[in-house]
Amino acid sequence: MADFLQSLEPDGDPLCERIASDAAARGIPIVREETGRLLKVLAAVGKPGAILEIGTAVGYSAILMALAAPADCRITTIEKDEARAAEALENVRRAGLEERITVIAADADEVLGTLAGESYDLVFMDAAKGQYGKWLPEVLRILKPGGILAADNVLQEGTILESRFAVERRDRTIHARMREFLWEMKHHEGLQTAILTVGDGLAVAVKKEPR
Ligand code: SAM
Repeated sequence: MADFLQSLEPDGDPLCERIASDAAARGIPIVREETGRLLKVLAAVGKPGAILEIGTAVGYSAILMALAAPADCRITTIEKDEARAAEALENVRRAGLEERITVIAADADEVLGTLAGESYDLVFMDAAKGQYGKWLPEVLRILKPGGILAADNVLQEGTILESRFAVERRDRTIHARMREFLWEMKHHEGLQTAILTVGDGLAVAVKKEPR
């Protein structure tokens, strides 16, 4: 099925494809193909004016979203690894998107609290998976009502299903935190959430409008 769906794909942007194959060769994690396809839809639906990404790596998904979003949509993306952030900026320049994509080289822990409330239409979380739950309150604060939160890798290569004792000891904290995060996403009264088995698992939620 995955091969069939991939065979239907039109040619992608050549620069994005180069960035993706270079990242794969160097072991830099980027969104999987099917997650990227859904991300492009999320970046286009409802004509977002502002998108926030947590976890830039070398800028692949930020560029993907910018190309799919309306031409006046601005993207802010946060990356704590300075070398990756610098490379992302270079890729953004090569894509001619420096007017639309701002790369912040810092830890999301330090940046999220400084962002204005209700200012983003879409937040894409794709950084340290054990921090998603901690970031959720700030992300909900900065999302506009009706805005979308998408969080990647929530199924943790399938290990989310395992009992904590079947998970390697070093992975138990992240396993427990991800389960708590998914529970919170599904039970938060301000969110309507679907957890999709796309790629490595994508939780997609809408921040409900106040009644
Ligand atoms: N979204 C990117 C893409 O698909 O092209 C991939 C991001 S990669 C999976 C995760 C990135 O998050 C890594 O480059 C890592 O350095 C960064 N990261 C991890 N923890 C972070 C934090 N606390 N603040 C900002 N960036 C973080």
